[in-house]
Formats: sequence, C-alpha cells, structure tokens
Amino acid sequence: MERLRADAVVIGSGAGGGPAAASLAESGRRVLVLEAGPSLGTADFNGREGEMLARLFHNTAVEGTGQAIYAGACVGGSTVVNDALCWPTPPEVLAAWRDEHGLDGLRPDRWDPWVGQAWRDVHASPVTPGRVNKNAARLAEGADRLGWANEGMHRNVAGCSNQGLCNFGCPTGAKQSTLLTYVPRAQRAGAQVLAETRAERIVLEAGAVRAVEARRADGARVRVETPLACAAAGVLETPALLLRSGLGERNPNVGRGLQLHSSLYVAARFPEPVHGYYGPTMLWGITEFADVFGHGGPGFMLENTAVHPVATAMALPGFGSRHEAAMRALPYLARTVVLLRDRARGRIELDAAGRGRFHYALRAEDLARLREGVVAAARCYLAAGAEEVYLPLLEHAPLVREDQIDTVLPERLTPAGLAGLYAVHLFGGAAMGRTPERAVCDVRGAVFGATGLYVVDGSALPTNTGVNPQITILANALRITTGIGA
Ligand SMILES: Cc1cc2nc3c(=O)[nH]c(=O)nc-3n(C[C@H](O)[C@H](O)[C@H](O)COP(=O)(O)OP(=O)(O)OC[C@H]3O[C@@H](n4cnc5c(N)ncnc54)[C@H](O)[C@@H]3O)c2cc1C
Ligand code: SF4
Repeated sequence: MERLRADAVVIGSGAGGGPAAASLAESGRRVLVLEAGPSLGTADFNGREGEMLARLFHNTAVEGTGQAIYAGACVGGSTVVNDALCWPTPPEVLAAWRDEHGLDGLRPDRWDPWVGQAWRDVHASPVTPGRVNKNAARLAEGADRLGWANEGMHRNVAGCSNQGLCNFGCPTGAKQSTLLTYVPRAQRAGAQVLAETRAERIVLEAGAVRAVEARRADGARVRVETPLACAAAGVLETPALLLRSGLGERNPNVGRGLQLHSSLYVAARFPEPVHGYYGPTMLWGITEFADVFGHGGPGFMLENTAVHPVATAMALPGFGSRHEAAMRALPYLARTVVLLRDRARGRIELDAAGRGRFHYALRAEDLARLREGVVAAARCYLAAGAEEVYLPLLEHAPLVREDQIDTVLPERLTPAGLAGLYAVHLFGGAAMGRTPERAVCDVRGAVFGATGLYVVDGSALPTNTGVNPQITILANALRITTGIGA
C-alpha cells in the first residue's frame, strides 16, 4: 500500500470539495484532494452527448421507484456538468435552518458574505438579452401571457459563446466550474489532486481522524495519514463513506434526511423552429409557483432546458412510430423542467458491497404538486402558441388544447406511471444541526464525536433549497473551511 501524508485531505472536488481545497491550501496547509473521477480538461470536452454522458456522469436509482439520481463524476464534480444557474440562498431556507434545525449562527449577516464570495469567485452574472435563445423565449412568452412572475437567471460563465453543451463539460472554458476556479487555485497554493482515486474509508482512532484509505482505478491502495478530513464526495457518496467508516454506529442520523428536488420534463412542439440545442442549456425561470424569495406558491420552479437528442429521446412519451414522430420534430421542440421542492425525506444505507442504496418515497402531497407543475408547464406552452405538448407519461397522445390536460393526466400521479422522474439537486444524509440527537455535524460542519472530520458538500445541508443549490454549497464549504482552526 502506498503511504502519503497531508495536513488535510479533501474527498471530492465539486461544489463542496473545490472551495474547501482552495481555502485550506491558501491557509498554508498541505492539502491532498482525493477524487474518484478522472481529470479531464476543457480540450477533452468534445460535445458528443453519448460519450460525455458516459465519461462525466455517475448515476443511481432509488430503490423501488427507479427515480434516477445523477451527479458529475470527474475533477470538478457536478459543477462540470451542471447548467451554470446561480441563485443565492433563499432567506426562507436560511430562517428554517435557524428555527427548525438549531443553526442559530446562520444569520444573514454571517451567511451572506460567503454567498457574495462564491458569487464573485465563479463569476455569477445576469443573462444578457443576446443570450436568450428561442427555447427560453417560448417559456417567457407563455408566462407573460398568463401574467406569471418569470425572469432570466444568473449563470456562472465568462465569455459564453452559446454552444449549448454545458452538461457535457463546457468546450470553451466559459463555464466557471470548480475545475477552472477553485481546483487550480488550490493547486497554485500547493494542493495535490489524486484523480481516479476513490476514498473508501476514513480511519478514526480514539474519536479523531488518523487517515483516509483509498483505492486507485488500477486497484492500488493508498493510505494518507492526516489529522483533518473534509468529506465532499456529494450526496451519492459522502453518507455512504461515513457509514463505511463506522460512523453510523456512533450516530443513527448518518444516511438519514435525504432530500431531493424531484424533476420532470414537459416538451412542446412549435410551428417555427426553436433549435433548443443552441444557446445556454438553461437560463429562464418561472418563479410564480416557488415558495422562496417572497413567493407564496406551492413550491416548484419551471426552468427551460435544452433539447439534446439523447436526453430528449429518454423523456419523450411513446414507443415506435409515435416516439419517432416526436423525435423528428426535435428542431421545433421547446422543453422545461418542473423542479419540485420535495417535502419527502429518505435515507441511504449500504448494500453488501459497501455502496449507497437510496430509499426515497415521494409523498402524496409531493406528487400532487408535481402534477400542478406539469399542468402549469403545459398551460404555459399552449399560451405561447405550441401546437402539441408532451407530458412526462410513458404513453399518451400529445395535447393540443388546455381542456385535454385533465383527461390525459391522471388525477393521482405515481412514480411508476411517469417518464423520466429524476433528480440532480441532492441534499442531506450527513446534515448540520444543533445536537447529535438530530444531526450528523454541528453548524461548523464538524462531525459530532469525530475530531478533525468535517462535511462540506450537499450532504451537510439540512433541507433542500427550492432553487438550484450550487452557490449555497460553495458558500457553505468556504464558510466551514475558513472556520477550521480559526
Ligand atoms: C446535470 C446537472 C445539472 C445541474 N445544474 C445545476 C445548475 O444549473 N445550478 C445549480 O445550482 N446546481 C446545479 N446542479 C447541482 C449542483 O451542481 C450540485 O448540487 C453540486 O455540484 C453538488 O456539490 P457536491 O460537492 O455535493 O457534489 P459534487 O459537485 O457532485 O462533487 C462530488 C465529487 O466527489 C467525487 N467522489 C464521489 N465519491 C468519491 C469518493 N469515494 N472518493 C473521492 N471522490 C469521490 C465525485 O466524482 C465528484 O467529483 C446540477 C447537477 C447536475 C448533475
Ligand atoms: S453555452 Fe456557454 S457555458 Fe454552455 S457550453 Fe456553451 S460556451 Fe460553455
């Protein structure tokens, strides 16, 4: 076994791990980043959908329902494959973390500066009119006609050239993922990144971190002696890593409290070409139905999304000739995500091979609100002049009029009857809270009863955020790691 030594080990290099590595390295520590995925650069991102999906993504399915969960799996993590949308942490979410989860320290005056720091570090910037592609414009038009609140969202890009390949790694280097921001900053401050090296276990002795054990892609084993470990392997892996390290025996909350933004697609065919594969993959949001930022809605967002061939084919209804007909209309399709702020809670356990197994059952009220979201998306596209609307059902004739929605869409949705139920916004499993009776780590991200172990990724968040979460995760990682040893 190869033996190494570091002042700090950061496990993962995405929205949590990137800033953690930069902040710890810039504080003078010798930092080693263990990243399970490969190290690819901008030149490797060739925009081929099938190839990039296979090389850059990690996915799993919820037990029983098959709901797909996706994350990035390379240096830079999900920030390499995400859509670059940026939202600050909603004040309602922060208030709930204080009032319901005992995180009294997270007052706006202590939290907002970290959001501001992350915002600047990744160059979050408003969408300018020249970037609004027809795909986004169709959603905005429908919302305007119906009088619904809608807006262009901020994106973390610098010099975006509208290629629409954000989910396959930006081939121009415009998207300011952690691969291009925090990871190079960490390296300039002396951090070493071991790619294709998967952390298997954090070794604790007498309640304190002693080492992290990992395995390289070629099977070679590595042990890094360290007094400080930051878990940032994402919700797909951090709770499982803590369980593999025996922390579940000390604290039953490890793996509990999983929460998602469950999502569905609605597509619509317009008489004029939309060419929804060009331009930023996502940029326009209907906020009318959100329950954050002062909106008192049921708790979902509608956000336009690209119509890449593979992803669109997976989500369009029908089989055989009906599916083929829908796919032939690809240049005329616009598409939106219905992004739900779930109220369900799930849990992560280990399977016999030590991998995470996800249990998550949407509540009846979640499915009812998802249905509301699908109806709103269909109404929006019809108001914008769509000739046909495709709902996220396995099989149905496309809608051409609003009064058909209730006959086509079952009154009660079930996960089994939905096409393409998925989530890419993942929260919890090792959440912050006031006491070990209710949480895994404290407000500083420090794991209860394990000196030197911190959780700095999406797993640390006590609830979902109601909007795209990367800025919240970046900010929290900066806050936690700047506080270590301060
Ligand atoms: C397709 C997609 C689109 C999205 N769009 C947006 C968006 O537009 N805006 C937004 O705000 N959010 C978006 N998100 C969500 C956002 O990117 C994530 O919430 C955020 O990146 C999660 O940060 P994280 O640190 O928890 O995990 P990640 O960023 O996923 O990083 C985890 C890293 O850990 C590595 N890893 C896993 N296991 C191990 C192990 N055992 N050892 C070492 N390394 C390990 C992984 O390879 C990965 O690199 C999107 C996500 C996806 C997948
Ligand atoms: S749209 Fe902009 S951010 Fe997305 S891949 Fe193209 S250049 Fe990169």
